[in-house]
Amino acid sequence: MPNITNCPRCSNVYEASSSEEANRSDRMCNECWNSRTFRIVRFRQEGLPREVIKEGCDLEEARSHCGDPATQGIGWFDGYEEE
Ligand SMILES: [Zn+2]
Repeated sequence: MPNITNCPRCSNVYEASSSEEANRSDRMCNECWNSRTFRIVRFRQEGLPREVIKEGCDLEEARSHCGDPATQGIGWFDGYEEE
């Protein structure tokens, strides 16, 4: 049985890969999944505020930024999160 559901983000109707997926509140259609954007955040050692480095990145860009050894040091590193 196809797991037809609607996307909570854009309300488009789509087919989920499973009934579990169709019932998740954080589900999304392929279009929304592929258009997610991420912000790169610099995390610092305890007590220091985090700093947003860049917003509106796609996943590939965020991953390659954070995978670069130049984006981490003693007591800090860059990570990313979905916007
Ligand atoms: Zn959607």
